[in-house]
Amino acid sequence: MLPFIRKDLAELTAYTPHPGGASGEPAHSESAIDRLDTNECPYDLPEELKKKLAWSYQQLIETNRYPDGGHAALKEAIAQYVNESITIPPLGGITLPKTAITGDNISVGNGSDELIRSILIATCLGGTGSILVANPTFSMYGIIAQTLGIPVVSVQRKEENFEIDIEAAKRAILSVGAAPVGAGCANDQNQNPPVRAVFVVHPNSPTANALTSDEIEWLSSLPEQILVVIDEAYFEFSQNTLAGKLQQHPNWIILRTFSKAFRLASMRVGYAIAHPELAAALEKIRLPYNLPSFSQTAAELALAQRQLLLATIPETLSERAKLIAALTLHQNLQVWSSAANFVYLRVKAGDRNLAETEHKHIMQQLKDRGTLIRHTGGGLRITVGSPEENQRTVDRIAAILD
Ligand SMILES: *Cc1c(COP(=O)(O)O)cnc(C)c1O
Repeated sequence: MLPFIRKDLAELTAYTPHPGGASGEPAHSESAIDRLDTNECPYDLPEELKKKLAWSYQQLIETNRYPDGGHAALKEAIAQYVNESITIPPLGGITLPKTAITGDNISVGNGSDELIRSILIATCLGGTGSILVANPTFSMYGIIAQTLGIPVVSVQRKEENFEIDIEAAKRAILSVGAAPVGAGCANDQNQNPPVRAVFVVHPNSPTANALTSDEIEWLSSLPEQILVVIDEAYFEFSQNTLAGKLQQHPNWIILRTFSKAFRLASMRVGYAIAHPELAAALEKIRLPYNLPSFSQTAAELALAQRQLLLATIPETLSERAKLIAALTLHQNLQVWSSAANFVYLRVKAGDRNLAETEHKHIMQQLKDRGTLIRHTGGGLRITVGSPEENQRTVDRIAAILD
């Protein structure tokens, strides 16, 4: 270990997006691998949009110039899209004026990962705060927090439906908050600073459940000194957003991404929707030119063409139903319902270790047969892919289990 590197970093393991380092072959290669481990859309941008992007690159983007560091056009387009999402009928008739969210409510990041880091810097850095997460959940909150020396307080979710153990969360907030504030040392368990941010995913990854009304009520009851981060990475699949409640709750922030339904994972664009003062704080923290011109152009194009791009979602949802139905036929699998573009399951076994051994076995066997899935949170998470990919998933799992 190099002596100038922080000691606490030595204990950290880096996030491995594709376990085992297999980044997958291009989809058009002979030995195509079904990459169902990172919840992307199975389809690349349509040819005509790629042509438009290529044209923009050739004709409009000056590669010798810094990108637009203010993202004004993109923020306006995002605000308009968010306002549309607030008035979606299933939300129960909430109708806000179309001007409800403006560019001042938006901050754009190099993926929502950058926004997660900016939020952590803005709320918890230097021993000023801890974060609370409910496991299993998106691992990036804890990983980024640790790189910044920010303590992570974890509570569990209920086994049957993965609802957050709200009572445990309340207790954790009270007990951590009781520690001496500003005592400083972020690594001393007994002196953790108070919880300053609670991270939830709506719907959760890897377990695919949306927030329940009890959970939302609890989040609404949190005091104004605690920031509530609601990650809606899978909003386009769930069609269920809390954006309509932001104005009532200045201590809430919503994260979304272009990496999933919008098919732009390679471009690294995410955004936050928040109170203007909070959005302004995130703008201070981010790097000045955090978004390449090409990425900004791609995100603007994706929004302009959202009808076309989001048109594959009904297929994903019906494929999800088929996948869940087929997997549920296996008596020894427990498969949960899903509000996202992935499915979560566990092997039914007497004890956890046995189940985990089975999960490892299934994941490895699937990999050997050409399907990558994710083993996480004590279960298996499988992305809903194209109909062909899903059929192979079902067939391969049947071959492994039978
Ligand atoms: C995929 C995902 C994101 C997206 O991250 P980007 O950095 O925008 O690609 C964010 N949160 C969750 C829970 C996710 O699953």
